[in-house]
Amino acid sequence: MTRFIFVTGGVVSSLGKGIASASLAALLQARGYKVRCRKLDPYLNVDPGTMSPIQHGEVYVTDDGAETDLDLGHYERFTGVSAKQSDNVTTGRIYSDVIARERRGDYLGGTVQVIPHVTDAIKNFLRSDITDEDFILCEIGGTVGDIEGLPFLEAIRQFRNEVGAHNAMFIHLTLLPYIPTSGELKTKPTQHSVKELLSVGIQPDVLVCRADRDIPEGERRKIALFCNVPESNVIAALDVDTIYQVPISYHAQGFDKVVLNHFKMEIKGEPDLSKWREIVNRIRHPESVIKIAIVGKYTTMLDSYKSLSEALIHGGIANNVKVKLEWMDSEIFESEDAVHHLEGVSAILVPGGFGERGAQGKIRAAQFAREHKVPYFGICFGMQMAVVEVARHLANLPKANSTEFTPHENPVVGIMTEWVKAGEVQIRKADGDKGGTMRLGAYPCKLAKGSKVAGIYGQSDIQERHRHRYEVNIGYKEKLEKAGLLFSGMSPDAKLPEIVELQGHPWFIGVQFHPELKSKPFEPHPLFTSFVAAAVERSRLV
Ligand code: GLN
Repeated sequence: MTRFIFVTGGVVSSLGKGIASASLAALLQARGYKVRCRKLDPYLNVDPGTMSPIQHGEVYVTDDGAETDLDLGHYERFTGVSAKQSDNVTTGRIYSDVIARERRGDYLGGTVQVIPHVTDAIKNFLRSDITDEDFILCEIGGTVGDIEGLPFLEAIRQFRNEVGAHNAMFIHLTLLPYIPTSGELKTKPTQHSVKELLSVGIQPDVLVCRADRDIPEGERRKIALFCNVPESNVIAALDVDTIYQVPISYHAQGFDKVVLNHFKMEIKGEPDLSKWREIVNRIRHPESVIKIAIVGKYTTMLDSYKSLSEALIHGGIANNVKVKLEWMDSEIFESEDAVHHLEGVSAILVPGGFGERGAQGKIRAAQFAREHKVPYFGICFGMQMAVVEVARHLANLPKANSTEFTPHENPVVGIMTEWVKAGEVQIRKADGDKGGTMRLGAYPCKLAKGSKVAGIYGQSDIQERHRHRYEVNIGYKEKLEKAGLLFSGMSPDAKLPEIVELQGHPWFIGVQFHPELKSKPFEPHPLFTSFVAAAVERSRLV
């Protein structure tokens, strides 16, 4: 039987509901249960794919080609369960489905309303695509009190009534701010937030309270009393030095037992958290520290690179080093003399990106890495810019560029309008819709025998996740290979370049896909492990 755990947030946003849900899921998984995490997002976009990463953070792409909220990345990293399209829904998607049904005539004669039609669609989503999971943890985006979150709260209220109180649980994450002048952690915002929830008919079963210090007994009692929960169900979520400590902290407070008691499930022994302890221990006690520059344009919003920074931490764990990330705005490299910023780093990574702004700076960063033999990792846009760099400076194509910016004489990177997915031809118009139309999700790739990447992966057939509209132009393969840039990974039909690597350089690799999306703390991605190892090597040389 599948039980449902709903996680809402109160007081302020950014309290880490995603990490809270992922950590509780990991803890239940460590007790032997099958878990799955989902996210309901109240905004009107059909998916986050069309939103700027500066507004919304990273768009996390699943194997099945969904563009989803970045919290799905946390879920996948913490539980190892591959996220799917059916794990994320938005108000926009719910409404477009309801309206499509209305147009089809499915509600003929009826007035279509938020209750019951929209709430029914939300509940149908909650029930869909479930097999033998013991727990579905479902996070509601936004903060309680937001107008657009109301249909979701109403839907989960109804849902609990339908499945029975002991088959569903409400967890509310709040903030206890510390007021220095009174020297106290304040519980009032939490009380107000719970009141807000009660006003829509939801009594939380557990309160998870973010705080920057221990919650004194008195405050804990007060929260329990005013918010109508047992004291044992007030869980402290104290700030931690690494997110991978959270499942351990939750267990130390008996959070898993509180959940099992709620569902009247037998509590057998203790969960095995040794792998979490091992990871935390490695993060806390590295052998050395290395600096890696990330040259991107969304550096004012680090959530834009969530999976990337995690993957680099994983690469550090695999090499027993702490990776210190130096975030650099690519636009600074558009002035010639700024490259000295790159001198003190042991490796350079240019991540995914869109649009012309900052592109020239990325090309310059790739050039610096190539000329100074600094390890270079180009991901998606970072690969495309490295190809432009090599084309301009080694292949005698000084005008080489990407058509993402404007039409060019030497379009070494050009728009893709046709490709094959699972045996079927996909066709896109160059000026078609922007939403959900990129080359998305997992695609196979064949690695060239004897190439560096074949050695790194230890196999010749891989699957990686994509999200791009442009592609390195196969027409320039010969010229670029002659210049030393090997096309070491290709789509199985040999039409789409997936990986390039520079010959005679210690580590210069560009990939058209996003390997960071599949990296996990317990299973660091081989490219990140190898890249960090190359950075360690470089740090020994200079
Ligand atoms: N803008 C480029 C493209 O669409 C790269 C995308 C990315 O880096 N994810 O192909």
